[in-house]
Amino acid sequence: MLCRLGAARRLTGRLCALYTREGTNEHFQEIDSTMGQYQIAMLPGDGIGPEVTAEASRVLQAIGRRFHHTIELAQALVGQAAIEEEGEAISEATMTLCQHSDAVLFGAVGGAGVGNPNARVQPEHALFRLRKELALFANLRPVRPFPALLGASTLKRDVLRGVDLLVVRELTGGLYYGKPSEIREQQDGASAIDTMVYSEAEIERIVRYAFELARGRRKRVTSVDKANVLSCSRLWRRTAERVAKDFPDVELRHMLVDSCAMGLIRQPREFDVIVTENMFGDILTDEASMLAGSMGMLPSASLGLRTTQHGKFGLYEPIHGTAPDITGQGKANPLAAILSAALLLRYSLGLEAEAHCVEQAVQGVVQAGFRTPDIATSGGTTVTTRQMGDEVVRRIEK
Ligand code: NAD
Repeated sequence: MLCRLGAARRLTGRLCALYTREGTNEHFQEIDSTMGQYQIAMLPGDGIGPEVTAEASRVLQAIGRRFHHTIELAQALVGQAAIEEEGEAISEATMTLCQHSDAVLFGAVGGAGVGNPNARVQPEHALFRLRKELALFANLRPVRPFPALLGASTLKRDVLRGVDLLVVRELTGGLYYGKPSEIREQQDGASAIDTMVYSEAEIERIVRYAFELARGRRKRVTSVDKANVLSCSRLWRRTAERVAKDFPDVELRHMLVDSCAMGLIRQPREFDVIVTENMFGDILTDEASMLAGSMGMLPSASLGLRTTQHGKFGLYEPIHGTAPDITGQGKANPLAAILSAALLLRYSLGLEAEAHCVEQAVQGVVQAGFRTPDIATSGGTTVTTRQMGDEVVRRIEK
């Protein structure tokens, strides 16, 4: 059912909940009174964003049907699509929609051929604004390669077996936000400046969060910096040392970012929780995606301090971009977006069993040999974006 909600199009999962396994009205009446009600803002964006979020949305609706929840998805424009239609990368109405939702399901923004590097409004401004104004300072990127996909990576199986790490990236500070940031045209030639700034408070809140997460895992935090060169990193290291005193049960080690980049492909099993600043985290997680076989396999959750009635407010997106080289060809792997929807169920809606159900369905699809081209292995069945989504939905509905 489609209906208008301000600038957004709303796709409700309520009708889905009409179907019960028995398919009787009596059963529905009983379930309707107990099911949860959830409101998600869906921002597909540009390039392959709409293709992969469409599949993640179908998965959420399938979860709604199976577990008898009302999951409402209100869709709005973002990125280049919003610039063309609304004149800005994200409109006030869309910001308000996000603020009033339990979570945001995001695709990707930007893309070769559509963005003009000199344009005043860039598609990426949408993400920066969402992160900053919704105070989403912690970006969680779990990397746990599926056993059936070990052959899809360029790395050796022995290196990948047993890898289970979590990158906690600071998301609202550092070089991507520091001012001044500009190109200066001068008579003796142009120069450019970017600014890296971190306050002790910003460092402390992300490092503390990483320690808390490590307590629920293998209790090892690797704090990544460039303390031999950068002042920001020296403050980062000093702050991490101080925070560590409050977590005597968690081991802390420091690593320079260049050394970490090497360690991630040399001995990735050594890592449990990695905590690092914005740009280092951006780069290291693209590298880490290859442990999972493809950018199309890595989900992410961006969280802050705000809570909703069900859990933590968050923004969920695959780590990849708009992939202009494969847009519109049915080649995009939707599993990172679908696994991001699983994180949304877990962290923002507090639905652990439902999140697990999605992850099991993805595992089942991968194990059964279904492959988009980016994770193709010999003997697998090559499928389109839509077919991959179909296979996940089919397993959820079983
Ligand atoms: P990209 O992630 O879009 O693509 C890198 C490579 O990975 C490409 O070869 C692409 O085909 C492949 N790939 C990515 N996702 C895939 C998927 N789901 N399935 C199969 N293959 C996939 O990175 P890029 O090419 O450097 O950037 C393209 C655009 O995306 C740029 O405008 C960039 O600014 C933007 N970007 C946006 C985000 C975001 O919205 N969060 C993140 C990264 C890049």
